[in-house]
Amino acid sequence: MKSLELRGSAQPIPAGKILCIGRNYAEHAKEMKADIPENPVVFLKPPSALISTGEKVIIPRISHDLHHEVELVLLIGKGGKNIPRTSAMEHIAGFGVGLDMTLRDVQADAKKKGLPWTVAKGFDTSAPVSTFVPRESVPNPHALEITLNVNGKERQRGNTADMLFPIDLLVSYLSSIFTLEIGDLIFTGTPPGVGPVVAGDRLEASIASIGTLNVAIQQEV
Ligand code: MG
Repeated sequence: MKSLELRGSAQPIPAGKILCIGRNYAEHAKEMKADIPENPVVFLKPPSALISTGEKVIIPRISHDLHHEVELVLLIGKGGKNIPRTSAMEHIAGFGVGLDMTLRDVQADAKKKGLPWTVAKGFDTSAPVSTFVPRESVPNPHALEITLNVNGKERQRGNTADMLFPIDLLVSYLSSIFTLEIGDLIFTGTPPGVGPVVAGDRLEASIASIGTLNVAIQQEV
C-alpha cells in the first residue's frame, strides 16, 4: 500500500482514493476546446498510481503522448459525508504539489468514443505527489502561484485564485457523492499550459509556500 507524508506528522498516512477535478481553470478548459463546466468534472485515479518526488513516470506502451498537468492537491485528514462548505476546510490535513499525468492520445480516443478516462488518467505512476504541508501553514490556499518547469524551462504558470470551483466547494460537493476518508487526495485541476513530455525529460512542479516535486520521464520497454 502506498503512503503519504505530512510534514510534522510522525507516521506516514496510508493513501486512500484519489479524486480528481477536470477543467477547474477557465484558461485550461479553453486550451482543451472544452466548455466551462456547470458542476465539477470528476474522475478517479487508483492509489497504486502514486509516486513520490525523485521517482519516475513510466509512459506505458499503449501511449505516445504523455502530458503534464501541475495541480494543488488536498490531503483529507478527517472523514465525512455531506460536509457543509462552512466546515469543509477542517477536513483538510494538508496541501501538496501533484502532477495529473495524462495519456492525451488515449484520453482523446476515449472522449471520441464516449468511453471512460480511467486508462488515460489512472495508469501506474500517473499521480506523483510531494510531501504535504499542514493546512495551518498555508494561510490562503486560494492565492498560490503554481509553476511547472520541464528541463529548466517554464511550461505552466497559474494561480489558485483562478479556480472555477474553490476548495471548500470541491470538498463539500465530492463528499455528497463519495464518503471522504483519512488519506484520500483531491487533485484540484490544472492551470493552462499543458503539453507533452518525452523520455529523459525532468519535471519540476512547485507551489509557493508548499514545496517542490521532481520527477523524470521514462518509456516502458
Ligand atoms: Mg488534471
